[in-house]
Amino acid sequence: MSAEHLPGACKLFAGAKHRRTGHGLKWYQGRLWYAHRLAAHLALGVCPPGLGCLHKCGTASCVNAGHLYYGDQRQNNQDVKKQRGIYRKLNQAQADSIRVDTRSMRVIAKDYNISSGMVSHIKAGRQWQT
Ligand SMILES: [Zn+2]
Repeated sequence: MSAEHLPGACKLFAGAKHRRTGHGLKWYQGRLWYAHRLAAHLALGVCPPGLGCLHKCGTASCVNAGHLYYGDQRQNNQDVKKQRGIYRKLNQAQADSIRVDTRSMRVIAKDYNISSGMVSHIKAGRQWQT
């Protein structure tokens, strides 16, 4: 799931945050909730047993219900791996050829199986790290 396909921008929780995880914290009906969990609870309904409230966008303090889903932790780890994997998918030579590729970003992105944001990032010539 790439960030481009998410509805709207991340809504960052402005209040107290968990010191270790960065998740927003909020009191609701006498309970201290993770802010994203509460947002999902109100928008998506009760969390099914055994599942956690996860971010499609990977931003711990985001409380945009459109970015949240219920899934198991294993799925979450895979998502994170997938997101990180994108950055390892390309080598320096490929980054160089993207930089000189004159096709539209969308076509290039599809060709290399990366996001067009990534293409523009590479084309802008910002430092490439493998
Ligand atoms: Zn978000």
